[in-house]
Amino acid sequence: MDRTALVTGANRGIGLEVCRALAGRGLRVLLGARDEALGEEEAGRLRSEGLAVRAVPLDVGRDASVAALVGRLDGAGERVDVLVNNAGIYPSDPLLGPDGERALAEALAVNLLGAVRTCRAFLPGMVTRGHGRVVNVSSGYGSFGEGLEGPAAYAISKAALNALTVKLAEEVRGSPDVKVNAVCPGWVRTRMGGTGASRSVERGAETIVWLATLPEDGPSGGFFRDRRAIPW
Ligand code: NAP
Repeated sequence: MDRTALVTGANRGIGLEVCRALAGRGLRVLLGARDEALGEEEAGRLRSEGLAVRAVPLDVGRDASVAALVGRLDGAGERVDVLVNNAGIYPSDPLLGPDGERALAEALAVNLLGAVRTCRAFLPGMVTRGHGRVVNVSSGYGSFGEGLEGPAAYAISKAALNALTVKLAEEVRGSPDVKVNAVCPGWVRTRMGGTGASRSVERGAETIVWLATLPEDGPSGGFFRDRRAIPW
């Protein structure tokens, strides 16, 4: 059956690679980008590789942007079967510093509430249709079990994204073919991860793609790296 995936924050980095990999597996891919022109440039490149990828404007930090996308897809009779909440920012100001509160607010607005917005927009449709996959791109920095390392605002926002994953998975438990999972991609060479990171974008995307295409008997409500469960 034809499936459509929406990947947020996909004009570069891990998200862009997830688009390539999902389209390579035969999914129709909506490449979400704040800057539609940038998104379309990347989508065009992927189309020239023979992949079914289209850019859609999406700023997950703004309710109006998510609502506009929902309206546009509804109007075109398009559904979202796979949602990859990849968009993320990495504010590094210390919490007690002059910009600490702003940094936390910004991190929560994108890394947590961005996923809340898209899940509220697209998860109910998955439940109604009885099929769907949500992948929340989190981080080991959001894991209490791994020491909640990294800058405070980022770590708190990713721990909250992990909590969101657990609670949403609980809410959709009655639909066994709707799965909600979180993933740590590892330390990846992107604008966020930097050039010294240990992993390629292909490696970073691998477990995300696995979770986005899980079979019906696959896990839900888990946190994974390299296809293995890791502690919350
Ligand atoms: P990246 O290269 O900095 O890309 C981040 C993407 O998110 C960009 O496309 C950016 O768009 C987008 N974005 C930021 N705010 C947005 C918003 N409000 N609405 C929509 N898109 C927005 O980072 P990356 O390394 O690929 O990171 C992808 C995900 O992996 C993030 O959630 C990150 O926390 C997670 N992660 C990364 C690493 C790593 O080592 N790289 C490790 C653990 C977890 P613009 O171009 O418009 O800014």
